Amino acid sequence: MEKKEFNLHDVVEMKKPHPCGTNRWKIIRMGMDIRIKCEGCGHSVMLPRREFTRKMKKILEKHEE
Ligand SMILES: [Zn+2]
Repeated sequence: MEKKEFNLHDVVEMKKPHPCGTNRWKIIRMGMDIRIKCEGCGHSVMLPRREFTRKMKKILEKHEE
């Protein structure tokens, strides 16, 4: 099983880029639902955690504590 550890403020790449052409998303809310914000246009979307985990491709930048 592939393990994807993600945390608040990490920047991730999704399997599909945002229609604006950017594929960099910052995690801005963690919980039952995950809210991510497109780094290109600032649009944000909320996804159930399970769906987010399925659609997320990789972590681009880990947020440093
Ligand atoms: Zn965008």
